[in-house]
Amino acid sequence: MKTIGLLGGMSWESTANYYKAINEGVKRELGGFHSAKVALYSVDFAEIETLQRQGDWDAAARCLSESAKCIEAAGADCLLICTNTMHNVASEIEEVISIPLLHIADATAERLKYDRITKVGLLGTAFTMEQSFYKGRLEQKYDIEVVVPSQEQRALVHNVIYSELVKGKVSDTSRQRYLTIIESLRNNGAQAIILGCTEIAMLVEQKYTDVPLYDTTQIHSEAAVDFALSK
Ligand code: GLU
Repeated sequence: MKTIGLLGGMSWESTANYYKAINEGVKRELGGFHSAKVALYSVDFAEIETLQRQGDWDAAARCLSESAKCIEAAGADCLLICTNTMHNVASEIEEVISIPLLHIADATAERLKYDRITKVGLLGTAFTMEQSFYKGRLEQKYDIEVVVPSQEQRALVHNVIYSELVKGKVSDTSRQRYLTIIESLRNNGAQAIILGCTEIAMLVEQKYTDVPLYDTTQIHSEAAVDFALSK
C-alpha cells in the first residue's frame, strides 16, 4: 500500500473527515485490520485565512509549499491539498515536490463525466466560486459548464463557511439557506451540485435534497484510496 500525504488543517474539521473517509475506504477494500498509511501535515488555519483575506496568494503558496516538502520527506507517495480553495496555489506547490498531486477538481470532474453531468452548480468559498482556478479547470479541461449562485447568495455561502463551518458550527438556518440556493442553481440548469468546499457536507447531506450532490471531501478521499491501493 502506498502512503497518502495530506496537507490539512484548512480547516481541521474537514481534515478529520478526510482521515475518516480514507481509513474507511481502505477498510472497505482490504478488510481485516487494514488501515491507511497517512502522512499528515496540519497547518494553523488562522495563518492561511489571514493570507487569503489579504489576497497574498504568493505567501500562502510559499507557506503550503514548505509543508508539502515536509510531507514528501515524511515518505508520502502522493499529495492531497485538503481544501478546494487552496488549489488556487496547486501549481506552485506541485513545482516543489516530486510526488504526484491529486487535484480535487480533477477527481470531481472525472466523477461528473462518468455520471454524464454536463452542467453543474458550484458552492464553495468566494475564491472558489469567483476565481478561475477551479471553474476554469472544469470548463476548459473537462468541458463541464459551471453555474454559480448570485452575488448575494455567494456572499451568504462564503460567510457560512468562515463564520460557522470551519469552526465546527452546523446550523439548521444555514442549511435551509443553502438548500434554497441549491434549488435556484437547479432552476438555472444545474443537473447536480459540487459541494466545492470540504466542510459543506457537514451541513448539507444528500438526504435533504433530490438534486445530486458531489461531496469533494469524499470524492478526493476515494481518489486517494484508489491511488494508494493501485499497483
Ligand atoms: N475547506 C474549504 C475549502 O474547501 C475552505 C477553507 C479554506 O479556505 O481553505 O475551500
